[in-house]
Amino acid sequence: MTLRTYTTLALYAVTLATPIAAQEVNVYSYREPALIQPLMNAFTAETGVEVNVAFLKKGLIERLRAEGRRSPADLVFTVDISRLNGVVEADLTQPVQSNALTENIPVDFRDPNNHWFGLTTRARVVYASNDRVSPGEVTTYEDLADPRWKGRICTRSGTHAYMLALTAAYLHHHGEVDTLKWLKAVKSNLARKPQGNDRAQVKAIWAGECDISLGNTYYMGKMLADPEQQDWANSVSVEFPIFEGGGTHVNVSGMALTKAAPNRLDAIRLMEFLASPRAQEIYAADNFEYPIAPGTQAAPLVQGWGSFEADSVNLTTIAKLRTDALRLTEIADFDG
Ligand code: FE
Repeated sequence: MTLRTYTTLALYAVTLATPIAAQEVNVYSYREPALIQPLMNAFTAETGVEVNVAFLKKGLIERLRAEGRRSPADLVFTVDISRLNGVVEADLTQPVQSNALTENIPVDFRDPNNHWFGLTTRARVVYASNDRVSPGEVTTYEDLADPRWKGRICTRSGTHAYMLALTAAYLHHHGEVDTLKWLKAVKSNLARKPQGNDRAQVKAIWAGECDISLGNTYYMGKMLADPEQQDWANSVSVEFPIFEGGGTHVNVSGMALTKAAPNRLDAIRLMEFLASPRAQEIYAADNFEYPIAPGTQAAPLVQGWGSFEADSVNLTTIAKLRTDALRLTEIADFDG
């Protein structure tokens, strides 16, 4: 029995264990259960509809493909626009026409054809040493190529989804020639070869190996919540670079309705529930992210890192530039 068959059967077992005749919605999630379960419980309390969440570490597209029309999954939850768009491009989703969704989710953060919808955003920012970088010294993404940062920048692999989305945004603003120049110049400013995750770069700043790093905003919250990482977090400030003539690069967590969706109407109810301003605020606060509905606010801790203007571009545009961003990253030998 393959692992895939086994996990599929395991999900059916979970599904069958729920009370018969109960209305239900089945979710495949790349997001951790602890982040989403409280909201699922709130939805069940309000509507009587049970939500079964299967948490996946990888293989979501392969699994939906293998299950085809018999898939029990109604919704997929994931982070990163290229992953959301990947499910759409694999022809595994269906559009949702809903005023509640379009009212609560700004146009840059949903698919123009209504296949995916963002729920929260995270900015890709610069973590800057409190000791060695002055306030205001970090300005733009373009400026990371300046020789004054030589030997001072740390980052994770240029081929990671978060980095590819940033490079794709650079490409959107500047085109291929300048993006390749930028990648090469940033590489020449690195203190060490790209390695580790976003938090490992902040640790390196704390340890004195570099002065600035690239990272997603919510990791500041996660580090502060971890006794072993608090010192790393307290050694840096969050700085919000912009693209020249644009804003700060953001990415999303989001959701899509599967093509198979056996519980389509209740699944759309759940999508609308999650998109409501209050649910967005709770969901965002759980992971130190930003809600996106008009009038919503991030948690006080998150607001304390500073305010910013999100770069104005539909994230589908970024997703479509991913392949080119990867090619340029490889030509620049960014990780080499
Ligand atoms: Fe992350």
